[in-house]
Amino acid sequence: MPRHSIVIPVFNERDGLEELFLRMKEVADQIVDSSSDDAEIILVNDGSKDGSLEKLDEIATRDNRFKVLHLSRNFGHQVAITAGLEWASGDTVTVMDADLQDPPEVILEFIQKWREGFEVVYAVRRSRAGETKFKLWTAKLFYRIIRRITQFDIPVDTGDFRLMDRRAADAFLKLRERHRFIRGLVSWIGYKQVGVPYDRAERKHGQTHYPFKKMLKFALDGVTSFSMFPLQIATYVGVASAACAFLGILYTLYLKFGTEKTIHGWTSLMIVVLFLGGVQLLAIGVIGEYLGRVFDEVRRRPLYFISRSVGFDQSPVGYGEVTRQVLVRS
Ligand code: UDP
Ligand code: MG
Repeated sequence: MPRHSIVIPVFNERDGLEELFLRMKEVADQIVDSSSDDAEIILVNDGSKDGSLEKLDEIATRDNRFKVLHLSRNFGHQVAITAGLEWASGDTVTVMDADLQDPPEVILEFIQKWREGFEVVYAVRRSRAGETKFKLWTAKLFYRIIRRITQFDIPVDTGDFRLMDRRAADAFLKLRERHRFIRGLVSWIGYKQVGVPYDRAERKHGQTHYPFKKMLKFALDGVTSFSMFPLQIATYVGVASAACAFLGILYTLYLKFGTEKTIHGWTSLMIVVLFLGGVQLLAIGVIGEYLGRVFDEVRRRPLYFISRSVGFDQSPVGYGEVTRQVLVRS
């Protein structure tokens, strides 16, 4: 009897949790009824401060298929998902947003594809309701850019809404990096993957936790995790400006020794100084982005801490990854 785990990161989603519970319960019932498979829903409370905590605890008492992990603070969307995946025990694990933008009913299609033998089933956004023009446009641009500058096949217009089977989930969990761009990491592991188109719904309650600044950081994490292209740009620009400089040198020598012209230097000097200064600062900035991330990685801090859990057979207290390995071994 296969078990299906569904991992849902929750950050300040109080008003939407009741509806999430009802919709998700319906889908869990369908999974159980139609195939007598088992379902487990792991709600990861990513340090909510709006009363989601109490609501989640209450949900866990109403249906024992719903389990809750309370992280010790807000670690961010991608880490919250990782924590949930780590504690999921299913033969398949599906990641879904708490705001019902990912319709839970699509999970039934995922499971169907899994039965057909696919190891990763990801949802492709056919349409996106209720997003600003700016978000739609930047997201579209971003997925196309990242596709061009990486050598991995990261499918366009997909989020983290996807199913992984046990083998793929275990492979994914071996990737311990801190700046996690999950949709890229899952492509990176390979295996048999397939996309399922769906219409992304509007957010029903509350508002997005991805303001522009966080979106930008997320985009930078994606680019720096999967591409060296920004670093290489510095090389290309360097080669081009060195070539220009060589021509410039020849020209100034010619003016000096071959003609009687006096050189009006200020304009050309300013152009060269400002251009090169700008390019250099930009290149240092790019190096800084990579270096900062390298620094974060070498510290090897645990990805997250768990403050409390509800409904698990083994109690995942403590340090996440470290504790789990100990528990599994003993
Ligand atoms: N989320 C989280 N931690 C965060 C930010 C978001 O767990 O620091 C959760 C949030 O509760 C939701 C999912 O991640 O379930 C996606 O977030 P959101 O809906 O704000 O992103 P958007 O859909 O606007 O891209
Ligand atoms: Mg959302």
